[in-house]
Parts: sequence; C-alpha cells; structure tokens
Amino acid sequence: RFSKSLGQNFLIDENIILKIIEGSEIKKDDFIIEVGPGIGTLTQYLAEAAKKVLAIEIDKKLIPVLDETLGSYSNVEIINSDVLDLDLKKMVLDKFCGEKVKVVANLPYYVTTPIIMKFLEEEVPVKDIVVMVQKEVADRIKAKPNTKDYGSLSVAVQYYCKPEIVTKVPKSVFIPNPNVESTVIRLKVLDNPQVEVIDRKVFHRVVRASFAKRRKTLLNSLSFSNLGLNKDQIKEILACCNIDPKRRGESLDIEEFAVLSNYISKIV
Ligand code: SAM
Repeated sequence: RFSKSLGQNFLIDENIILKIIEGSEIKKDDFIIEVGPGIGTLTQYLAEAAKKVLAIEIDKKLIPVLDETLGSYSNVEIINSDVLDLDLKKMVLDKFCGEKVKVVANLPYYVTTPIIMKFLEEEVPVKDIVVMVQKEVADRIKAKPNTKDYGSLSVAVQYYCKPEIVTKVPKSVFIPNPNVESTVIRLKVLDNPQVEVIDRKVFHRVVRASFAKRRKTLLNSLSFSNLGLNKDQIKEILACCNIDPKRRGESLDIEEFAVLSNYISKIV
C-alpha cells in the first residue's frame, strides 16, 4: 500500500506532530505550504493552527483519502503535483498575495535537498522551513567548518538560513519504519543572504568544486574543476584572496567562499 519510491513513511505519533507544530510557531494568520501531506495527519493540525494550508501531494492515489480526511477544513487546498514541477513563487503570489509563507513538512527523503533548495533558490517568499529530514541530512545542513559533516549543502543552506534542530525522531514513529533516524530541523530564512555574492551560480559552483575531492587541496580541487581555470590562475586568485592554496575546502567559512567566488566571478 505504501510507495517506497515516493518516500512514503507516514507519521503515527501525535507527540512528534505536536513538536513539529510547536517548533513551527504557527500563528493564526500564517500561510502554510505542506509538501507531501500523505494521508493528511499533519495537515489537520496545520489547518487548526494556521490561516490557510496549501498541501502539495504527488501521489494521485492519496487525493481521495486527503479529500476525505481534510474535507471538513475550508482552509486547506490540495494540489496533486510533483512539487519540483511547480512555479512556487507564482503560486504564493496567486494564492497568498505574495505574503511570506511557512513551509512545514515531513519530507520524502529521496528528494529532500532538491525540495529545500527549490524554495531557497527560486526566491519563494518563505519565512521559515520546518521539516523532518534524515538525521544525517540535518547534521550536514547545520555543520560548521572543519567538521566531517561540513560540505556544499551546509554552505548552500546557511547562505540563506539559520538552521536549528527542533527534535530528534526515532524510526518507530512512522509506518512503515524508515531505515534511518530522523530529525526535525528549522531553517529560519534570513531577510538577506548571510554574505554578499556577485553571482550566486558562480558561488555555488565554487563551493561544489571545493568540496568535490575532500582530500585534495583547494589549489588542486579548483584547478581540476569545471570552472575552466588553470593552476596558475587559481594560485593567483587564492593569493589575492589571502587564502593558503594548501587549505582544503572544508576549512573555508561562508565569508571566505564569498570572497573567493566574487573574485572568480570577475574572471569567468
Ligand atoms: N505528511 C505525511 C506524514 O507525515 O505522515 C506523509 C509524509 S511522507 C514522508 C512523504 C510524502 O510526500 C508522501 O505522501 C509522498 O507521496 C509525497 N511525495 C513524494 N515525492 C513528492 C514530490 N516530489 N512532490 C510532492 N509530494 C511528494
């Protein structure tokens, strides 16, 4: 009955649902987007707490179930679509007059990162993202430099948000049980990104290239990347940015990535 390929692990523990609701600090005038309502368990609590809930579910088999469980809520709208196919910025403009929304969801784990990055990169007006993710993904999102979990996902998310752990979640609160532990994480979206970046695409490319080969020095990682710059050029750029070419990507903080990518943006 459950589609493993669609990441269907349904929440069955009210305490965890209440923790998600509490962690979302929902107010009566809040607009909510829920990705993957499933059978509507969390959606009902969101509908009680907020002004309006837009629930986006990919699985058309679940739509009649949702119509049934959520039928009595006049403030819930169900959309049958892959969230990744939607123009979310336009949707928020149409449905919520462009008001900032909160995203609250127990995310399907096979597409966690693309979903989070879609909300952030497409500049959807979002205040907060409170989501259940794999524990390992939450650890990577909030990791600091020089730790094993720090990587391009940490930098990409922290560029836009301040992450906080809401609660850890055991496997036993889902049907069926997933293979991994989970964590509810809250991403408080910053009014302005943490650092000033000339070209966001170049910033993300530089970050990804810096982490691509974790044991390599920055000099090597960046010269053998798709940035199209040779070793001498990278050497010169790193010197201008006061970054030791022997350092590794994992030691750079977000400000250093910004300085480096701004310099590279002027060349590529
Ligand atoms: N919210 C429910 C709960 O907490 O019990 C279900 C959560 S389940 C982990 C993830 C849900 O996301 C499933 O209902 C699945 O069908 C849906 N889903 C998977 N991929 C999706 C996508 N790309 N767009 C929208 N919904 C998706």
